[in-house]
Amino acid sequence: MDIKVKINNHTEPDLVIEEAQTNEPVLSTNPDQVEIDDSHDDLATQSKGCRQRSVNTSAEFGESPQQPPPAKSKARAARSSSHAGQHGAMSIRDQLDDLASRAKDGADRIIHVWRQGWRHTAHQGLPDWLKDNDFLVEGHRPQLGTFANCFRSIFRVHTETGNIWTHMLGCIAFTSMAVYFFSRPASQVRLQEKLVFSAFFFGAILCLGFSFLFHTVYCHSERIGRLFNKLDYCGIALLTMGSFVPWLYYGFYCRLVAKVVYLTLIGLLGTAAIVVSMFDEFAKPKFRPFRAGIFIMLGLSGVIPALHFVIADGFYHAVEHVSLGWLSLMAVLYITGAVIYAARFPERLFPGKFDIWLQSHQIFHVFVIVAAIVHFHGILRVANYRLTEGDCLSDDYVTEYS
Ligand SMILES: [Zn+2]
Repeated sequence: MDIKVKINNHTEPDLVIEEAQTNEPVLSTNPDQVEIDDSHDDLATQSKGCRQRSVNTSAEFGESPQQPPPAKSKARAARSSSHAGQHGAMSIRDQLDDLASRAKDGADRIIHVWRQGWRHTAHQGLPDWLKDNDFLVEGHRPQLGTFANCFRSIFRVHTETGNIWTHMLGCIAFTSMAVYFFSRPASQVRLQEKLVFSAFFFGAILCLGFSFLFHTVYCHSERIGRLFNKLDYCGIALLTMGSFVPWLYYGFYCRLVAKVVYLTLIGLLGTAAIVVSMFDEFAKPKFRPFRAGIFIMLGLSGVIPALHFVIADGFYHAVEHVSLGWLSLMAVLYITGAVIYAARFPERLFPGKFDIWLQSHQIFHVFVIVAAIVHFHGILRVANYRLTEGDCLSDDYVTEYS
């Protein structure tokens, strides 16, 4: 007998289980394609009563040889043939029974896939919408079809494992830092500081969180992948905007007009970036330069207030009291990470050698986290300096624009 179990559904992982034994029936789990070939089944012809079929799937997935695969239930098959022969049409009760059987078969199939897992896929075998970096040759996840499968894949090793874990751990780290910061008593951190820094924590946690979610679920389906891709872009804009708020707030602490102008400017640019990234066109490959340009412009808009600090108070003051050095380091880290990501280094030089670990996207993720930590350190220094200086003189606050 030959036993073949095939699951090939667009919303489920590509899974093919085959085991050849002589004189076994051919069985397909596809509800639209159930085949039972009894032509060589001597036992079936000799005893037409109850027949037992066991499908051995252990060869590839290590499951119990006695575990039945999800398939059209025998009861349903028997009922269908009986009714087709005797009455020609099914009664309402039979139809309900049939519906219940189909639901059970569907659930069995999901459980089956859940237990069996999925196979790694080569880049060439991926659907077009999952193809991103052709220098990563092997070890990709196929389309997984359900959120459960996607989240279970966090604990398996594949091309996205490093991307998922870097920003998941980064998100947990920044959430922990935020909880610690906001739980400080007012004698240590005032409400004003908590509100201003909340913009930074909000941006960092959402950016890392959206990125972690995107890398986890983007193989769910094309629609879900596209949605979370947009959230990933939104996260970058939110982190950039949130990072600017404490820096501009404390940097221009006594310069009301400049503070309002620059905060409004970054707010408008960031909002524009979010709106643009909501369009489906934005994620298409042909808009890659435009996409990169939007986020680089957003980040580099910080050059304008930085120059303002230098011109107004001198280079030394800008470095010492507005953390220009730390913020420059942060910018260098972001840009270096982005260049490595865009150049797809090192996998470009050694295709197939960095499929799982140390690929460019993972390095970019690590640079983003380090840059955000450097930025946090920088804005803490600016806030500390400003708060130890005491209140602004009222004349400065109103009239000093420079
Ligand atoms: Zn990423």
